[in-house]
Amino acid sequence: GEAGQTTSSQSRRRKEQGQPSPHRSTPNAAATLSPSDLPITPLREALLDLVHQHPVVIVVGETGSGKTTQIPQYLLADPRFGSDRHAPPQRIACTQPRRVAAVSVARRVAAEMHCELGTRVGYSIRFDDRTSAETRIAYLTDGMLLREAMADVRFSAYRAIMIDEAHERSINTDVLLALLRRSVLGGGDGGAPDRPDLKVIVTSATLNAAHFADYFQGAPVFRIPGRSFPVEVVWRPLTRRPADYVQAAVQQVREVHARGEPGDILVFLTGQEEIEAAAAALERQLEDISRADDTGNTAPDGAPLRLGVLPAYAAMPAEQQQRIFRPAPPNIRKCILATNIAEASLTIDGVRYVVDTGLSKQRVFCATDGGGGVERLLIAPISRASAVQRAGRAGRTAPGVCVRLYSARAFASEMLEEPVPEVQRADVASVVLSLLEMGVVPRATALLHGQGGLEWLDAPAEALLLAAMQMLWALRALDGPSGSITDVGRRMAALPLDPRLARVLLASVDLQCVSEALTAVAMLCVGSGGDSGSGGDVFLRPRHPSAQREAERVRAEWQHPAGDPCTLVRVYDAWECSGYADGWCAAHYVQVRALQRAREIRRQLADILRRWPTRTERCGDGGAVTAASRDARLNAAFTAGLFANAARRCLYEGVGAYTVDAAPATGRRTTCKDGRRSRSAAAADGVAYIHPSSALFHNPPPLLVYYELVETRRPYLRCCVAVPDARWLAQLAPQWYRQVDAEAPARIPP
Ligand code: ADP
Ligand code: MG
Repeated sequence: GEAGQTTSSQSRRRKEQGQPSPHRSTPNAAATLSPSDLPITPLREALLDLVHQHPVVIVVGETGSGKTTQIPQYLLADPRFGSDRHAPPQRIACTQPRRVAAVSVARRVAAEMHCELGTRVGYSIRFDDRTSAETRIAYLTDGMLLREAMADVRFSAYRAIMIDEAHERSINTDVLLALLRRSVLGGGDGGAPDRPDLKVIVTSATLNAAHFADYFQGAPVFRIPGRSFPVEVVWRPLTRRPADYVQAAVQQVREVHARGEPGDILVFLTGQEEIEAAAAALERQLEDISRADDTGNTAPDGAPLRLGVLPAYAAMPAEQQQRIFRPAPPNIRKCILATNIAEASLTIDGVRYVVDTGLSKQRVFCATDGGGGVERLLIAPISRASAVQRAGRAGRTAPGVCVRLYSARAFASEMLEEPVPEVQRADVASVVLSLLEMGVVPRATALLHGQGGLEWLDAPAEALLLAAMQMLWALRALDGPSGSITDVGRRMAALPLDPRLARVLLASVDLQCVSEALTAVAMLCVGSGGDSGSGGDVFLRPRHPSAQREAERVRAEWQHPAGDPCTLVRVYDAWECSGYADGWCAAHYVQVRALQRAREIRRQLADILRRWPTRTERCGDGGAVTAASRDARLNAAFTAGLFANAARRCLYEGVGAYTVDAAPATGRRTTCKDGRRSRSAAAADGVAYIHPSSALFHNPPPLLVYYELVETRRPYLRCCVAVPDARWLAQLAPQWYRQVDAEAPARIPP
């Protein structure tokens, strides 16, 4: 499969002479496929031999060295692993923690192999499977491979599995490593390996290789020598109070641009909202930026060098993703505003300036003192390893500069050496449920005692396991103290959803509002990335101020006083009534693609529900049901899934403020058990605010449940559902809430 090698000897010669390649590569060079001068290229045979000799190989090499795009192709072309000769033919898998990376790399490799995406090369991400019987190389999110393992824990469809970006230590990656270890090396309880023929390759740019090598019983470490250029680090700690790193980052972009030397800019921010804000700020200033251009900045052909702003986050549309990789025309300097997705998993050529805020959004589970707890998305400092990796992005093709918006002292003393693995800081309920469904552990309690033959790279924190078990029990997925999986639990595991949203769907069956719940859940899933991204927004947010006002006015008309799920159903139903018309979306400031995706997700979820004898008709199809009853049923279904995320209005903290830590009947305080403090004192005190985009923002009810607690400028509650009666909680989640007033049953819709 090495057809069409085009040598770019010119660029190799340039590199050998230590000269930076010109930043503006010609379109021809950019289109060069099957690159033959990547750092990994000369090591091909040595790597393949090592893989042949060992069940597990660890590969460390800088970003851009060719690990992700080349290794699966090498394996496929080698007769020792060439999977076509097996019957049935097996695949080569490469996992990515991020959806965006899986898709973009698959697209790239399909181009290199001159085949159409979805044929010999494909990808598989949640709700979007682009593989076929023909597929031999599959790029999957780690979550998707884990999902496949639920049906086939021996990974029999695969000849080789490459676990990429292992340094990120996502929960799913860690579980996959444990399952693969068991398959190729045998279980910790002495079980024999069931796939001695399977090849496992663990790859990353920045890896504590010794830790991984030990874990795989002395697996060899293969290093790809780097070819990067020096990067000058500039420290620019924030001085203003309150510190506004978004604004500071924008300022740095302006300064870099004003200096006038060529090279693209990569800015690390923490989330979509911030990125949109920074993009808007830059675009507002573009006018005077280009005026400044007239005095200094010129492109090689003498035309003024302009700034082209490109947002990059998990929930962005596909064609926007592709634009990041495309070389800019000579008079445009690309300025990529990215989340962590650009840290290691995407290779963007041409970047010479990095602006690093030193922050990222991280999933952190905050246990409550009395047991239980909730997960939050917090903005927290990155690790030193991440900071080094981010800086390195500036020196891939030429010497670069990295501006850090923090001090050298903070780097040395406040950042952790490596990120805390997700299994030790995030909600593990979904993973516990998957392992039970696979039958890898007989009971949830076995995980606590290290039974079940599963050896972890780092064991999940006991507090997290206990909280997950308690949550799963309250969701009725476990049958109480023994912790074995129930029928409800099996159904929840079959749905590719967070267990809480799976419970919403199952509860909607009893509450006879399946159709509405399917719509609301599908709409919530739209845009939510594999990486700590919050549910995407189906509403358009135009950047131009006057369009923005109009969009807000239209949006306000959609808002439903009962909460966001009802609002989402209202929007979707109206779109459906229009015959799924694109024009309808434009007229109502709704994203066409988001709705189309929601429709597809809805179809897939409905297919899964249909496997069980359930009634999926629309609420009221069988008789007259008032709109109010329909809304109440939907809200009750959401309360049945999100009960743990109850929040009570607290007037003394200001408008829209809620106490988020406690059951309404008690007064428990929230603490983050792993010692990571939220940057905001309010969040640490268990106070959060309804997000301005929520339907309940202007009309906050006394009690609500929310889907996500996301911290941006303040801790915000996203996707909120009004709970009209506190007794709903006790009735829908008796394992979690005591019935306060037993005499008066709640008025949950019959
Ligand atoms: P690694 O996994 O070691 O970080 P990759 O295999 O992703 O490296 O990338 C190798 C080379 O392939 C990069 O230097 C880049 O030039 C090219 N490349 C990778 N992905 C893309 C893409 N989506 N579009 C264009 N070029 C790409
Ligand atoms: Mg890679």
